[in-house]
Amino acid sequence: MEKEKDAIDAVVEWIRASHNTVVLTGAQLSEESGVPDFTSPSINPPISEFRGSREARASYWARMKELYPLLASAKPNAAHEALYRMEVLGYLNSLFTLTVDGLHQRAGSSFVMELLSTVLWIVCTQCGKGYDLSSIQDRLEKGEDVPACESCGGDLLKPEISFPGQPPPHWELREEWMKLRGCDLFMAVGANLDVQPASSLPSMSKEQGARLVIISQTETPADDFADAVIYGNPSDVLSFIVERLREGMEYS
Ligand SMILES: [Zn+2]
Repeated sequence: MEKEKDAIDAVVEWIRASHNTVVLTGAQLSEESGVPDFTSPSINPPISEFRGSREARASYWARMKELYPLLASAKPNAAHEALYRMEVLGYLNSLFTLTVDGLHQRAGSSFVMELLSTVLWIVCTQCGKGYDLSSIQDRLEKGEDVPACESCGGDLLKPEISFPGQPPPHWELREEWMKLRGCDLFMAVGANLDVQPASSLPSMSKEQGARLVIISQTETPADDFADAVIYGNPSDVLSFIVERLREGMEYS
């Protein structure tokens, strides 16, 4: 614990000194809020199967219908709130997330780059019309098994997140790379960092001369070359860091 405290002290100083802090959050934040991993192949079928089989689409929507209440009732946790407070205090310049549940926005964060897109917005892959997941859920509850598009009549609706066999959403990635330029402190929080392309962000930030901080419950592939690694619950660690940042402001 002494070692962790030293690391936290250092991180607080780095945040204060930074001109451009980028935070990347990951699945551990969703888990703490009780949200299932909607990017998992256990929920999402391979895209070819989804496109090719009405039965596969029906079973996908049956799973979504069952999981939806967990998503709808999930609340932002202390990690989401701490990041919102960092933004308000002026200590957070960009927030990237690998989560797809919208909890950062619900905690108040205003600029959230969802690198894997979101599960809350459903798009017709044939004509592009978009739907709130809640409206699709209403239709599933009324008995539709495969929701059809109200505009073109097709039944290939899906969230924009990648299903197995689909490339990651490129547009977001370009944005992300642009914003990483000039970043001098990169913090990966609650992200397992084991899936490309997000897993290359820590090394990219190091190559650009940024300090790298990892806050995670479990080891990550980036730990070896990070400037500080804090193993712990992201909520506890971030709350503590924000508390320290606020103290510093009162004294200055
Ligand atoms: Zn359509």
